[in-house]
Amino acid sequence: MKIICDWKNCKEIGAYKAPVERDNSKKFKLLCLEHIKLFNKNWNYFENMNDQEIEFFIKSDLTWHKSTKNFGSSENFFNILWNNALEDKLNIFKSSNFKEFKKTKISQTDRDALEVMELNDASKWDEIHSKFKKLVKKYHPDKNQGNKKFEDKLKKITLAYSQLKKTLGKK
Ligand SMILES: [Zn+2]
Repeated sequence: MKIICDWKNCKEIGAYKAPVERDNSKKFKLLCLEHIKLFNKNWNYFENMNDQEIEFFIKSDLTWHKSTKNFGSSENFFNILWNNALEDKLNIFKSSNFKEFKKTKISQTDRDALEVMELNDASKWDEIHSKFKKLVKKYHPDKNQGNKKFEDKLKKITLAYSQLKKTLGKK
């Protein structure tokens, strides 16, 4: 018995394995040559996206308008995206909407890090950077007779700063 390609409305033979979930390589669905190519193209595309871009993508009008099912249903997110064959996906990240989203979207980790640095959610990278320099001066052991309490504080601040550098820092 031949297995039919798992792609929506496709009647070709499914001869190529495609992972069902991003982090689960054990589960596969079978696709025809044409659709495995398309699948891989999209898969690689997502590979290069950061979490923020993926999150925006999920929430974007483009995705919602093209999808026929709810993301919350048993059908997983990636299935829906691939089946929709997203041609103009690149454009949404150039849109002003994404720039707006990027400005305001902050993860819990970043939020915690900002709190450690005595900053608020709206802080821009330049502020974070200059605040870091101030805090290092303030909490440096040399300035505090080697006080252990300040040393720990400085460690925390440094960790918070490196976290924020990863996500908000200038590339
Ligand atoms: Zn197919």
